Amino acid sequence: MEPTDGLLHEHSLLIEGERIHALLPTRDARQQYPAVNHIELPDHVLIPGLINAHTHVAMNLLRGLADDLPLMTWLNDHIWPVESALVSPDFVRSGTQLALAEMLRSGITCFNDMYFFPDETAQAASQAGMRAVVGMIVIDFPSAWAGNADEYFSRGIDVHDRYRSDPLIHTAFAPHAPYSVGDEALRRVRILSEELDIPVHMHVHESREEIQQSLDSYGKRPLARLDELGLLNNRLLAVHMTQLDENEIKLVADSGCHVVHCPESNLKLASGFCPLEKLLNHNINVALGTDGAASNNDLSLLGEMRTAALLAKGVACNSSAAAAHEILAMATINSARALGLDDETGSLTSGKAADIVAVDLAGIETEPVYDPLSHLVYVAERQQVTNVWVAGNHLLKDRELTSLDSKAILADVRQWQEKVRLHDKKKRTEC
Ligand SMILES: [Zn+2]
Repeated sequence: MEPTDGLLHEHSLLIEGERIHALLPTRDARQQYPAVNHIELPDHVLIPGLINAHTHVAMNLLRGLADDLPLMTWLNDHIWPVESALVSPDFVRSGTQLALAEMLRSGITCFNDMYFFPDETAQAASQAGMRAVVGMIVIDFPSAWAGNADEYFSRGIDVHDRYRSDPLIHTAFAPHAPYSVGDEALRRVRILSEELDIPVHMHVHESREEIQQSLDSYGKRPLARLDELGLLNNRLLAVHMTQLDENEIKLVADSGCHVVHCPESNLKLASGFCPLEKLLNHNINVALGTDGAASNNDLSLLGEMRTAALLAKGVACNSSAAAAHEILAMATINSARALGLDDETGSLTSGKAADIVAVDLAGIETEPVYDPLSHLVYVAERQQVTNVWVAGNHLLKDRELTSLDSKAILADVRQWQEKVRLHDKKKRTEC
């Protein structure tokens, strides 16, 4: 991915402690470092750890709860009622652990999250050794996490302070969406994000309804409102962006804000199509995210890469749109750049953290292999991810998790499944 995208054959990566020390031909590595521990991975491709630039990890507990519904029905009738009954520190911890296990087994080494109880998400990620950006959520209605705007800010900043010097855990402001956060809170987000020098992570222009609601309430489209509030800048990760006219694409390009593309969530909720090829042609930094497991319904960035590549071609009526190397960049270095972590991760570069994923391309489903990069985007499944390192720690070893207990996680999740089912059924009966 850096300095230019390209494939190196028969090469070795030398990991020393948390960092990549060298990248050199395997023959030279054996001569220069005969005493180090060698791990041989024939028929594999090594890629930078994938970075999930938008998700709600605790929502893994709501995977498949309500499908085939419009966004607002899905939220109002199912997701929000269950959340208001059940969301708690325990819920977030359990959902996060399930998501961490799923993501590591999918080759994801870092994620950008937005949910209640970010302290629990941060703690679970830290214990599992995963890199994370946890969102200090801000939303205009009370929740189990905070009762009012002041409390959302103060509790979020407590989390920020606690992890200020943590090498793996970072924070961002996460105002939920233009339709769920008022002007006053958004002004505070702008000022505090500048003071603390951290990103702002927000759903923006997700659906047609959001645009209409903004026109009705504010007399302007959400992007115009965010621009007036001073939020359109290179701190902003604008998630979804399916509703964009030509002037708005120019505005985004000029402002330097980042777009997070979540194609599968957009398709599933029929939100619209993010014009990926146009954004890339305007040199906008586009990152890739899965969104939560409730609207996807998996956290597979390899799957998301394939969908993004295919959808971009269909939307642009151009089979050359969003080429394989651009798609892999979106899931690695572009996501790192959007999160302000590109000095640390996002490419296999000497000096960066050893966030590395090995994908096995041998076998009936993948051979012959003419171009490993093409296979990563168009053929490989996450089951072919064999080994994952985060900051030099070997967290997935021959598909076995080393820092998480899969059996305990599943036993816990099955208990939550019963509680979620009961609450959703109750709501359906009341309706
Ligand atoms: Zn989302």
